[in-house]
Amino acid sequence: MSMPDAMPLPGVGEELKQAKEIEDAEKYSFMATVTKAPKKQIQFADDMQEFTKFPTKTGRRSLSRSISQSSTDSYSSAASYTDSSDDEVSPREKQQTNSKGSSNFCVKNIKQAEFGRREIEIAEQDMSALISLRKRAQGEKPLAGAKIVGCTHITAQTAVLIETLCALGAQCRWSACNIYSTQNEVAAALAEAGVAVFAWKGESEDDFWWCIDRCVNMDGWQANMILDDGGDLTHWVYKKYPNVFKKIRGIVEESVTGVHRLYQLSKAGKLCVPAMNVNDSVTKQKFDNLYCCRESILDGLKRTTDVMFGGKQVVVCGYGEVGKGCCAALKALGAIVYITEIDPICALQACMDGFRVVKLNEVIRQVDVVITCTGNKNVVTREHLDRMKNSCIVCNMGHSNTEIDVVWFLSFIDRKAFFPFLPLEPQSTVLSSFQTSLRTPELTWERVRSQVDHVIWPDGKRVVLLAEGRLLNLSCSTVPTFVLSITATTQALALIELYNAPEGRYKQDVYLLPKKMDEYVASLHLPSFDAHLTELTDDQAKYLGLNKNGPFKPNYYRY
Ligand code: NAD
Repeated sequence: MSMPDAMPLPGVGEELKQAKEIEDAEKYSFMATVTKAPKKQIQFADDMQEFTKFPTKTGRRSLSRSISQSSTDSYSSAASYTDSSDDEVSPREKQQTNSKGSSNFCVKNIKQAEFGRREIEIAEQDMSALISLRKRAQGEKPLAGAKIVGCTHITAQTAVLIETLCALGAQCRWSACNIYSTQNEVAAALAEAGVAVFAWKGESEDDFWWCIDRCVNMDGWQANMILDDGGDLTHWVYKKYPNVFKKIRGIVEESVTGVHRLYQLSKAGKLCVPAMNVNDSVTKQKFDNLYCCRESILDGLKRTTDVMFGGKQVVVCGYGEVGKGCCAALKALGAIVYITEIDPICALQACMDGFRVVKLNEVIRQVDVVITCTGNKNVVTREHLDRMKNSCIVCNMGHSNTEIDVVWFLSFIDRKAFFPFLPLEPQSTVLSSFQTSLRTPELTWERVRSQVDHVIWPDGKRVVLLAEGRLLNLSCSTVPTFVLSITATTQALALIELYNAPEGRYKQDVYLLPKKMDEYVASLHLPSFDAHLTELTDDQAKYLGLNKNGPFKPNYYRY
């Protein structure tokens, strides 16, 4: 029998946590607190107005990045099926019931449920780990009694997660963590299936908080688990319904932003329940950053530019997980890839992987494509842009739009609106810092396609800027469902673990998923590849000092 079949579901029906594991988890959680704490303090705003300014609802990366701007714009997009005739009426004004007579939801149009169901079924095809989790744990119902209030993107992939949680015994109430990303038909399908879902695409800020409130504030129903993506739901409960935390057994948080907020709470001694940091689990980081980017870099570049990679010269800035993924894909298509790095270890890795490590200045005149993935700022400066050759493609795969010096959000005209005190003369010394950007009067911007700008120099040279320097794959491509499945399975297991953990196993701190569970998430995905794990013999296990069922690596192992 292959290993995945043989592995018991951790945390369910067996004494999963030996004292050692808990100790490890705590140790790691401490390490994580030290190493992952945000460099810049993230303000947990007291003022709700201030809080709503966080870029999380539109800017956060997470489970359902597949709903990118371009995908929702496309003819094949689920969103295009939305009946526009009822667009003007806010869902809050509508009286809707599902086929069982329940009106315990608020979605755009319940009549879209059938179409949404098809979308969910398509997603299920590539999320077999969750489906197998449903089958394996069904007898035990490890989430029986769990009342989960969730705030994530609402897409076909998250619907598979939500329905898995329900199949495992949970009751769920759900809102969207992003005002634009909800697939209306999927929300309708969930509502038709009996999930209390409050979400639609294009919510206002007020709608956003109203939806969260409807999930939390319900007579006769009180949540005992939170699944959050970005921390808005957690914040709302803290601010409005702190008593709810008396019953909450744990918070599972997926995003970088939300995790930072949790660490802030923990540091301030204000975290009153255990929380699981899913963002930093191995199965999320390795697969999301490396493998997801390996696939989506090509998708994003092809969709926007139709570029052919064979023989093209590409420079990739940063050889971390994201950079490694991008480079592997580009190399496989025959591109000549150069790397820039600041870290000698990553630089050496790049060398050993067969890439030339250079300074950007050395190759900037000759390259056809420039890709940033450093998480840093001003990696590609105006000076670099000035020296690029005609038709050079420039894009970013890193977290924010700071890597390429675009200052995209402050166009020359807009700047006057934002900073009326600034003179508009190009030579102004006050403006000198802006002069380094691409938004200067001598450059002409031509929007040639969605997410594609030609920036034209006075001599006619064009640079092709993608997604205005924002994350390319988030803005211009979809993300493979399979990667989302790994994250969703991690979330499901984190909920099961926190819900079933005996008192005292987890304290009021932020934890990483125990290694054994990370391994379990991976094992659930192996059957998709018909992969057969080798089992340790007793003798081998003894020799290595391992339990035959794992964990197979210490927490400090880097993979
Ligand atoms: P990482 O820390 O593993 O890698 C970043 C690398 O960039 C490091 O090796 C660092 O030494 C190098 N670097 C920093 N400044 C540099 C500079 N000025 N010039 C050259 N190299 C420099 O991080 P990662 O996991 O690879 O993530 C990179 C960025 O991508 C982050 O901002 C992350 O949030 C984002 N990210 C994007 C996606 C996506 O889907 N596009 C997925 C995951 C992470």
